[in-house]
Amino acid sequence: MPELPEVETIVRGLAAKVVGATIDRVDVRLPRVVVAPDGMRFGKALCGERIVAARRRGKYAVLQLASGRALVTSLRMTGRLVVAQPAAAELPATHVVLSLRGRGVLRFSDVRTFGRMRLVAAREAWDRDLGVEPLSSDFTQEAFIGMLSGRTTPVKALLLDQRRIAGIGNIYACEALWEARIRPSRPAGSLTKPATHRLRRAIIDVLQRAIEMRGTSVDDYVDADGLQGGFQNDLSVYGRGGRPCRRCGGSILRTVLAQRGTWWCRRCQR
Ligand SMILES: [Zn+2]
Repeated sequence: MPELPEVETIVRGLAAKVVGATIDRVDVRLPRVVVAPDGMRFGKALCGERIVAARRRGKYAVLQLASGRALVTSLRMTGRLVVAQPAAAELPATHVVLSLRGRGVLRFSDVRTFGRMRLVAAREAWDRDLGVEPLSSDFTQEAFIGMLSGRTTPVKALLLDQRRIAGIGNIYACEALWEARIRPSRPAGSLTKPATHRLRRAIIDVLQRAIEMRGTSVDDYVDADGLQGGFQNDLSVYGRGGRPCRRCGGSILRTVLAQRGTWWCRRCQR
C-alpha cells in the first residue's frame, strides 16, 4: 500500500534520524523477511555499518551504507519502518530491529509479512527493472508519450506498471486520472496529446501534494515517527464510491480494472 508519497515521507523522516548512525546490533526475529547476497549473513554484514544516506526509489526505502552496500526495504501492504527509543512500545509484528549507537532503534514491522529487507552489494543493479521516477527530470512529456503510444493496455494499468513509472500505486493512479479527466479504462495509446499532457501534469501534481501532506493513511501507513499522513482528507475519488464528484457532482463509481478496485467519475472522466 505505501506508494511514492508515503515512502518519500518515511525516508525523509529516516534521513533526519538515522543518517550518520552506526548499526550496533541486528535482531532478526522472522528470518524469511530478510534477504542478503549469497555468502553474506544479513545481521553479521550490517553490524558496524554506518548509514550515510536515506533515499527512495519507486516504492522502496533505501538506506545507503558506508561500505557501498545498501539496505533496501519494500513495505508492500502493511510494512512499517519506525525509529524509536529502545524503551518505547513496539508495533505489532516487529520482525527486524536495528540498534543504532546512541540513536535509538529502527524497527521493521509488518503484520501481513509481504514486505522484505534486502541487503544489496555495492554496485548491485537491484533496481534495473524499475521505470522512470515521475518526480525526476527524466519524466518528460516525450518519455511519457513514448510509454503510451501504440499500447492497448488500459491507461490505469500502465500507470501501475512499475517497470514503466516507479512509485505509482492504486491511490495515486485513480487520483491522477480523475484530475486529468481521463477514464481509467481508456487504451493508453488512444490518449490525445493534450490528454497525455494533462495526465503527466496530474501525476506530478498529485504526488507532490500528497508528499506535502505527508502521505495518505487509509490503511496501516505511518511515517518514521509512527504518525499518520493527511492526504486521505484530500482524496477526490479513491475510496469514495457512491459519493458526489467534487468537480461535477456526478456519482463516483467503483469498478474493477486489472484486478484492482478503481474509482472514477463517469460524467467527467472521458
Ligand atoms: Zn465528475
